[in-house]
Amino acid sequence: MGKYSRIEWTHHTFNPWWGCVKVSPACDHCYAESWAKRVGSDVWGPESPRRFFTDAHWKEPLKWNRDATSEGIRRRVFCASMADVFENRPDLVAPRMRLLDLIDATPMLDWLLLTKRIHLVKKLLPKGRQLPPHVWIGTTVENDEYAGKRLKYLLELDTPSVRFVSCEPLLSPLNLTPYLKPNSKGTRIDWVIAGGESGHGSRPMDPAWPESLQKQCAAANVPFHFKQWGHWAPASNLEVPHGYPAHKVVNFYKGTQRVPVVSVGKSAAGRVLRGRTWDQFPATRTSAP
Ligand code: SF4
Repeated sequence: MGKYSRIEWTHHTFNPWWGCVKVSPACDHCYAESWAKRVGSDVWGPESPRRFFTDAHWKEPLKWNRDATSEGIRRRVFCASMADVFENRPDLVAPRMRLLDLIDATPMLDWLLLTKRIHLVKKLLPKGRQLPPHVWIGTTVENDEYAGKRLKYLLELDTPSVRFVSCEPLLSPLNLTPYLKPNSKGTRIDWVIAGGESGHGSRPMDPAWPESLQKQCAAANVPFHFKQWGHWAPASNLEVPHGYPAHKVVNFYKGTQRVPVVSVGKSAAGRVLRGRTWDQFPATRTSAP
């Protein structure tokens, strides 16, 4: 929730509240839940209360908007890292409305709303209200099963905004090709973010999975952003000492060729894929630099 976020793909993060309920395998090691527990907040699960914030917290984006206006530079805001804006519970109706009003009041900010409940967006928006052009609406897709379940809702939303997909944590090979070309309504995925899992219990990612996504995006001319390897990285990216502990190595296979990935932690793992970093962003009327 700081002024300048350390997440590479956004300038700020804003949480309208804290707390959530797990909904799919991507949530298994939810870092937000671990973080909330670490700071003593019991806000996860259907029975727990959510944590709400003071007016001072809600004024922060107004300040970011003023700064962006005076600098003449649009800024991206990731909302929400500690919750899901489209979680459906009665106590979230008012704060969600407050968030929508705040978004309307901050037109120099591009708001990235990432949800695993994309099927609820239409239902939970007040009647007659659409997402404004400075909302980029996205959903998480960790495998083909959830691509099938979520992307149809992303593509059918009535919105002039960017539609994006976050494939993080990427848990299996993923074919996004059918969604990267315009459908009969002329909509498609405008931006793909990919990354591996970090934190306790992280599941290793076969390097072939993000490589394939990058190639699919290049073939469809869709911008691709590789966020991180996560806790595990390809041994070929690192100088792995001889005799590295066996329990810290997982082998994938490309045909008969062994592709080891090693447990090194997020910082050491880095974000180099196919010999470079990938920091592509969608070009829109309201693009932030
Ligand atoms: S939807 Fe997001 S915030 Fe909620 S449990 Fe899943 S990963 Fe955590």
